[in-house]
Amino acid sequence: MSVLVCYEIIIMQPTLPILIKRASHNISRSMISPNALRIMYRLRDNGFKACLVGGSVRDLLIDRAPKDFDIVTDATPSEIKRLFRNCRLVGRRFRLAHLHFKDEVIEVATFRASGAEPEPDEFESDEGESEPEADNDRHNGRLLKNEGGMLLRDNLFGTPEEDAWRRDFTVNALSYSIADFSVIDYVGGLEDLDLRLIRTIGDPWERFTEDPVRMLRAVRLSAQLRFTIEKSSWKALVEMSVRITHASPARLFDEFLKLFLSGSAKECCRLLKEGGLLKALLPVFDEWHDESGDDTADLSLDWIDSRLATGVAISPQLFLAVFFGNYLASRTEGFAAHSGSFQDCVDHALSGFLKEVSGFMQIPQRTVMRLREILLLEERLAKLPGRRPQNIVSRPGFTDALNYLRFRAVSDSSLEKVIAWWERYAGDGLLQGEQSNVRQEPVKTRRRRNRRRNRSNRESL
Ligand code: ATP
Ligand code: MG
Repeated sequence: MSVLVCYEIIIMQPTLPILIKRASHNISRSMISPNALRIMYRLRDNGFKACLVGGSVRDLLIDRAPKDFDIVTDATPSEIKRLFRNCRLVGRRFRLAHLHFKDEVIEVATFRASGAEPEPDEFESDEGESEPEADNDRHNGRLLKNEGGMLLRDNLFGTPEEDAWRRDFTVNALSYSIADFSVIDYVGGLEDLDLRLIRTIGDPWERFTEDPVRMLRAVRLSAQLRFTIEKSSWKALVEMSVRITHASPARLFDEFLKLFLSGSAKECCRLLKEGGLLKALLPVFDEWHDESGDDTADLSLDWIDSRLATGVAISPQLFLAVFFGNYLASRTEGFAAHSGSFQDCVDHALSGFLKEVSGFMQIPQRTVMRLREILLLEERLAKLPGRRPQNIVSRPGFTDALNYLRFRAVSDSSLEKVIAWWERYAGDGLLQGEQSNVRQEPVKTRRRRNRRRNRSNRESL
């Protein structure tokens, strides 16, 4: 409803910015996180501007539950820190405040002039530092780009309008002001929300050059929201897809996971392929996938999406096992022909795969180790009744490995018997999610505790 109302207003007032008064949009305070509201009220009461921005405003306007609530303000990081005891400053390039609550962390940023988002590996806690440097940044620092136009440095505070223009897509640049509960649009986001379009703010070639990760974000948002990527933004994305590897490997892996764990993995994958991004990121896998005519990729993405739709989380290692499982298995089989134990073959396959992706995707070592555990356990689980099953159940990768088997059972029904056996063995209700680890512990500890109790019984006798 609201978007239509907004659209009418745009037609009446074609010039930007547009301010939509409270009575003409659908965002009510009851839809906003109480913690976010409290933060904005306190900033306002202390004389600062405060707005909700980004994905939350976009989602609220289309009646979608926001994933998180980001706030922007004209208070500097140290002013924010002084106002909130639960505040931690993060980020080297541009300081952001993270306000910690029991079950939520809310990001509060100072209006910024222009630039790329801080990279995940850049975040560092500033706890213990007396005065954050960020306040020294109220200066005329320069926006630094490399020769190719990629943003390297940006530490400028800015106005609310500048803050909107530095964002990635028009629909992500809307803000909701706590001063009068109005929605403000500096960049044409309301119209694109109405047209269901993902459009870069400004020239798409320039914006994707500045930060190639925006191409992955365009794909994810388009798939998640069922919006279309606007024509010239899509053209730029296709033409520039090879440049995706210019982004930092740690950030790329982060975004890659977000794409496939977004709940719209299948659509994300289709767009990645169509836009040339999958080929640019994973050329060997992409070729193998085309040649093998393997439809497991589709099956795997359906499985991931349907599991997430039921509210069950998927760990990064389980995703990797499910998505790359057949690919890795084909490599493992290749090594098996040249001898070596199953474990050696898995290790060879895994290290080849990591080499293949390492140039542009940095998978954290602990995720690699957990993926390895799934692949190794898969073989042991398949053997029934299995040697020392209690040892297997208590291994940290057991839940993921069994879930992996569940996925494999979609195309191999003989595995259902194996899964049922392990489910029975491990206990009713186990294995659907995280609680499995909690339940696994007692297998070991109960015995120890009994032994201790027995010993103390004996001593007291
Ligand atoms: P989600 O629903 O996944 O949270 P989101 O749009 O809120 O989607 P976030 O990663 O939470 O995405 O980012 C918050 C906001 O920060 C975005 O809406 C956008 O305005 C801005 N932003 C994020 N990444 C970039 C980027 N690479 N370049 C420019 N602006 C960005
Ligand atoms: Mg968000």
